[in-house]
Amino acid sequence: MNKLTREKIEEAVRQLPILEYYFIKASEIPFTKEVQKICEMECPRYGKSWSCPPAVGSMESCQAHCNEFDHAFVFSTTSWTDDSLDMDACMKARVEHDKVVSAIWRLTDVNHAFMISSESCSICEKCSYPDKTCRHKDLMHPCIESQGIIVASLAEQLGMTYYIDEHQIVWFGILFF
Ligand code: SF4
Repeated sequence: MNKLTREKIEEAVRQLPILEYYFIKASEIPFTKEVQKICEMECPRYGKSWSCPPAVGSMESCQAHCNEFDHAFVFSTTSWTDDSLDMDACMKARVEHDKVVSAIWRLTDVNHAFMISSESCSICEKCSYPDKTCRHKDLMHPCIESQGIIVASLAEQLGMTYYIDEHQIVWFGILFF
């Protein structure tokens, strides 16, 4: 497969329902140690998925892995929901975002790229964690926060829209390449 370039991504993005995007150096993505602690205290997905802590490893190991790549393509999509406080409704509304993530992922040589996305993986009805290995390692994308990245801070840093209103969710993805 030919090397993935910014131009190839931008060409593909023109065909996709992306809200906003930004290219930065992978080393410019901010990592915060406390995020995984917040996951542990506040997120019902903590310890239930290969895409979340503690399965993803420490923040330091996640940061080191992300920094093996030169570039980060940060993108967002949006979808409608009747109630943004209802987690199940929100996850149903993520379907279109997942399609965009998959389309961008298909551009890559999976051995030389890494994708993370909003919220935990929901490919399987019930995650195999921790009893068996992940069933779809090549398709599973860890949650952005699982790596120690506060997506709201990153959006602010890049001038990207983070919140629209209670009926319009903004989803994020970061492709390291
Ligand atoms: S692909 Fe399946 S087993 Fe792997 S993280 Fe996602 S839900 Fe869990």
